[in-house]
Amino acid sequence: MTSNTSTAQQRLIDADHAHLLHPFSSLYSQKNKELAFFESGEGIWLTSASGEKYIDAAGGLWCTNVGYGRQELVDAASSQMSKLCYLHSFSNFTHEPQIELTEKLLSLLPSGFDRIFYGLSGSDANDSNVKLIWRYNNVLGRPEKKKIIARESGYHGSTVTAGSLTGITAAHRAFDIPRPGFLHTVAADWHRRPDHIATEEEFVRYLADELEKLILAEGPDTIAAFFAEPISGSGGIIPPPAGYFEAIDAVLKRYDILMVADEVITGFGRTGTWFASPRYNIKPDLMTLSKGITSGYLPLSASVLSERVSKVLYSEAEADGAFGHGFTASGHPVCTAVAMANIDILEREKLPENAAKVGAYLQNQLREQLGDRPFVSDIRGEGLLMTIEFDKDKETRTPFVQASKAGHFAIQACHDEKLVIRGARGRALAAMAPPLTLTESEADQIVERLLRAFTRIEDAMH
Ligand code: PLP
Repeated sequence: MTSNTSTAQQRLIDADHAHLLHPFSSLYSQKNKELAFFESGEGIWLTSASGEKYIDAAGGLWCTNVGYGRQELVDAASSQMSKLCYLHSFSNFTHEPQIELTEKLLSLLPSGFDRIFYGLSGSDANDSNVKLIWRYNNVLGRPEKKKIIARESGYHGSTVTAGSLTGITAAHRAFDIPRPGFLHTVAADWHRRPDHIATEEEFVRYLADELEKLILAEGPDTIAAFFAEPISGSGGIIPPPAGYFEAIDAVLKRYDILMVADEVITGFGRTGTWFASPRYNIKPDLMTLSKGITSGYLPLSASVLSERVSKVLYSEAEADGAFGHGFTASGHPVCTAVAMANIDILEREKLPENAAKVGAYLQNQLREQLGDRPFVSDIRGEGLLMTIEFDKDKETRTPFVQASKAGHFAIQACHDEKLVIRGARGRALAAMAPPLTLTESEADQIVERLLRAFTRIEDAMH
């Protein structure tokens, strides 16, 4: 209990320690560590229960794209709740917000998509996409073509299926996942490339070869789809090397394998454009969206189908017509109404453009002011999605033996400077995805706080 903690707050903290099972937290630390207890938010700022102001440079979990505290979104939720608080979408029930949102999304997405299925989380949207892909191959009379390939360091969620797509071993440990039929190929991680690789071109060839080897070893007729984030997020903010997705696309086409772009983080302006797929020449057959779709104000996700996929799924309708999949809250009227209002803000305030501009400014500042520090071995990202990576030896890119521990230390040092950042399992990182409203002067404040934290980070890393 700090001097600022009231008795009422302490009772809540004790109850949290006693009864809450926090996601992605150490079971040990929940009994022993201080909680990060917040009460309110405004723009890029979070205010703690004891009244201290923090910059949330992580944007929640990479999702508060329009920033905290937007009255417009509160009003959209409140007016929809008063009018029609709930309607399911089963059996062709429908309502205005979900139809309007669908049309809006299709107008913003790259061309070639024509159907959207709504869920509530990135994980369930990926689960839905896997089921839709399995069904697609069943309709095409290819019951063997069901295995899914994703990538090491990829994060696609934590349900049984999405957790199986995820390529981070810490998310598998002691959970009996990945389930059979979910495979992982090498991450497109230039910073952690094998030592024998000298150029990006060589690396891309190596990655495409590795994927092809896996497909051939398993049997091309058994591989249904490849899932990838345009930029791996939770695995460590890993943008692809030039030409990567073009090379992967050629391999996938050769074996008639569907491409799924998981844009749960990169969507809705995060990287400086509405979606990141076009920048990397990704031509997805399906897409997964969530997070920035409502800026985290309410849960919502979307599984987006290309005409190629939906045409096959709809060709089955004559034979049976039963589509036995959906959630109580699929297309929830309040969540879809808030998504519309959120997209309206992103458009009106040109926030994707701001992410490109202020993102470039922040990355330049990080390079200028932190690039020469002893353990800073890489600064990378796109738009307002970026990271600083620390290594024991920056010249040889040799990681710390206990990289997670070094990463935790960096997070704590920033937290002490009232700066919220994110790390990644098994790496020493300071990852950031602030609201897309970020101004240059707010970016300067992030850099100032990082600089203050660095003195302590460096002392600990020596
Ligand atoms: N896909 C990506 C790329 C993500 O980053 C995440 C979450 O961080 C998910 C899927 C899962 O989303 P959720 O946590 O909403 O299930």
